[in-house]
Amino acid sequence: MSDDLLDFFDDEPDAGQSTCGEMPVWLILVVDDEPDVHASTKLALQGLTVCGRPLQLLHAHSAGEARQYLSGPDPIAVILLDVVMESEQTGLDMVREIREHFGRKDTRIVLRTGQPGYAPELEVIQRYDINDYKNKNELNRTRLFTTITTAVRTFQQIQALDKSRQGLEMVLQASRQLINRQGYRTFAEGVITQLAALLNAPEEGVVCCHRADEYGDSFPRIVAAAGALADFVGKSLDNVEPAQIRRLVERAMRRQCTVVEENHAAFFFRSPIGQEMVVYLEHAEHREDEILQALLKVFSTSIVTCFDNVAHLERLREIAYQDALLQVPNRQAFLAHLDEQLLAARSGRVLLADIDQFAAINDMLGTERGDQLLKVVTRRLRHKLPERCYLARVAGDTFGLFDPGGMLSPEDIAALFAEPFDLNGQKFALSITTGWVGLDGQANAAEVLAQANMAMKHAKLQARGAALCYQPDFADALQRRVELAQALREAVESRSLMLAYQPKVDLQTGRCVGLEALARWQLNGQFISPAEFIPITEATGLIGALGDWVLEQALVDISGLNSSRQSPLQVAVNVSMAQLEDEAFVDKVHATLAKAVVPATWLELEVTESMAAMDAGRLQALLTRIAELGISVAVDDFGTGFSSLGQLERMHLTTLKIDKCFVDKLALEPPDGRMCSVILQMAGELNLKVVAEGIEYENQASWLRQAGCQVGQGFFFARPMLLDELAQWLEKQA
Ligand code: C2E
Ligand code: MG
Ligand code: MG
Repeated sequence: MSDDLLDFFDDEPDAGQSTCGEMPVWLILVVDDEPDVHASTKLALQGLTVCGRPLQLLHAHSAGEARQYLSGPDPIAVILLDVVMESEQTGLDMVREIREHFGRKDTRIVLRTGQPGYAPELEVIQRYDINDYKNKNELNRTRLFTTITTAVRTFQQIQALDKSRQGLEMVLQASRQLINRQGYRTFAEGVITQLAALLNAPEEGVVCCHRADEYGDSFPRIVAAAGALADFVGKSLDNVEPAQIRRLVERAMRRQCTVVEENHAAFFFRSPIGQEMVVYLEHAEHREDEILQALLKVFSTSIVTCFDNVAHLERLREIAYQDALLQVPNRQAFLAHLDEQLLAARSGRVLLADIDQFAAINDMLGTERGDQLLKVVTRRLRHKLPERCYLARVAGDTFGLFDPGGMLSPEDIAALFAEPFDLNGQKFALSITTGWVGLDGQANAAEVLAQANMAMKHAKLQARGAALCYQPDFADALQRRVELAQALREAVESRSLMLAYQPKVDLQTGRCVGLEALARWQLNGQFISPAEFIPITEATGLIGALGDWVLEQALVDISGLNSSRQSPLQVAVNVSMAQLEDEAFVDKVHATLAKAVVPATWLELEVTESMAAMDAGRLQALLTRIAELGISVAVDDFGTGFSSLGQLERMHLTTLKIDKCFVDKLALEPPDGRMCSVILQMAGELNLKVVAEGIEYENQASWLRQAGCQVGQGFFFARPMLLDELAQWLEKQA
């Protein structure tokens, strides 16, 4: 700190000196039981000054009166103490009391006695730090004055030494305290506290530093504040009111030195690595005090070293806790933040938002542009999320959010993704899947994050863009999924799955016209439903291998069945979205047909309406190639998805399969056939065949027959059967 610009005012009294009116004086306590001695002492010292200040006498005529003065707060410079009073020892006893009981270590003591025989031992003089021992009759005016002057000077020196020792202790303590401070804010708060203590000022002020914002622009910001100014923390200096505070801080920054004005001061500090800091203190009054100036210098030197220390630690923190690409807190920081909340027993909501299909987008764009897109997403989140929310990047394309208010909902986040993102003019529509959980006394942040993650994983399994709140049974469900996935991989690799075939029958004639191949898997003697294991194969990438096997097996089986039939049956094979997305899919089907030596017309592929999510051009090209090979395509579970009439018209399709949920309504009393009618009418217009699924009762079959539906499938006709059983069933039919 540069002190050459410190201009001091108001020469306030030091601690350790008393005042008479406005004038500082030295207090001299005269303790003597002889009134004459008081009178003569008064006379002898009248009108005298020591070191520029007058003396003020306090008179005590007994030990009791003396104690009254001694127990008060006034600094007494010298005590003229009579040795023999009530007893021969009273004076000497009093000495011990002054030092030990009243703790007045600096006060000088001059013992006086009438008779030389009462002189104290040398050992006592040393032990109790007695300044002088005088015979009363020795103390004429000159002698007394010399004695008093010497004693007052010694008192003054001791006080000065004391003060600088105390000050140094304070500075030392300050640097001990500040060296451990983490973060600019706590450090700067500490500086206010320590500096205020050193200056004997109230803790009321601000600390201003140049700090960079999220875009790297640096500007003066309030990093800490205390007292009535506390609200300015985090704000730019421009926002600080009243203006005189701002002006004083600006002046100190501009001039790079400490500026003191009446009733407030701005202290300028610069660290060895060039960091600058201005500490503004209200009511920081100064004296032209050498000790204080020296202390401020020492303070400044030790503080700037701590300041650099903070900077280094912050940098380390940044590296450890900041995501280098997106400039937001990373997973570590998120965990630390949550741990803090848990420790303080706070509530709030934790959300994990994962961008859907980001890996594919990244592959398409290349890593560099993928990174840029993430930055665009981050910027929107940061600007649109409520200020109270904590945003972090916890994994590649997963953001962690904490809302202490607990109000932020998955819908709020989804709304931020409603508009496409703009990357150099190119628009990207992104969706997110969210898992969330409330802070609720979990053991630690890792547990919280694991729960949110589990919820997110479950949501992913449901659909893109889904959101789920954590439920305790997720853990078990996830555990089962992991086990199933493992067993399923082994089953697919060892081809120990089976195929069941469910007949499709002509509703007019009752004759079997086709079969649907349905995968069957037995684990530990129990059949697991395809509704459970197919999604696992889709999520784990096993669907490709499973699909290949189903197609191969179904073609082998149909080839065998048809070899002994006059009119060949068509076999339908279910195909997942993930299979359709494979570029080599059509070639694979073609090769499998060739290998099994089966005509393409014997095969039908059942796809779901979710294929409509595929790029329309690509889907059309794909269906065209399939049609060109002569393979039929049925839309499975029709009516539950979102394909539009226009879209259906353009695609090469053969069949619509009315979903079971609409067929179920035909069993009601009276039957509700509105949806079935619509689909039948639509299929008629598009020249498509219709298969009604899940027929369980005669009345459903007859309703459909009358409505003109050609083909039906369901337990009413036959359940899915393994090959042997199917062969028997077909024989019986014939
Ligand atoms: P899906 O393709 O709609 O198959 C029809 C489902 O309805 C079959 O269930 C069948 O057993 C059942 N079902 C047929 N008639 C009735 C009935 O009258 N009442 C009732 N309650 N159910 C009936 P499953 O075999 O459990 O298969 C469920 C789903 O798993 C299939 O629905 C299909 O989407 C999928 N899936 C099965 N096998 C495969 C496969 O090899 N590949 C693919 N990608 N998906 C498959
Ligand atoms: Mg099907
Ligand atoms: Mg179906």
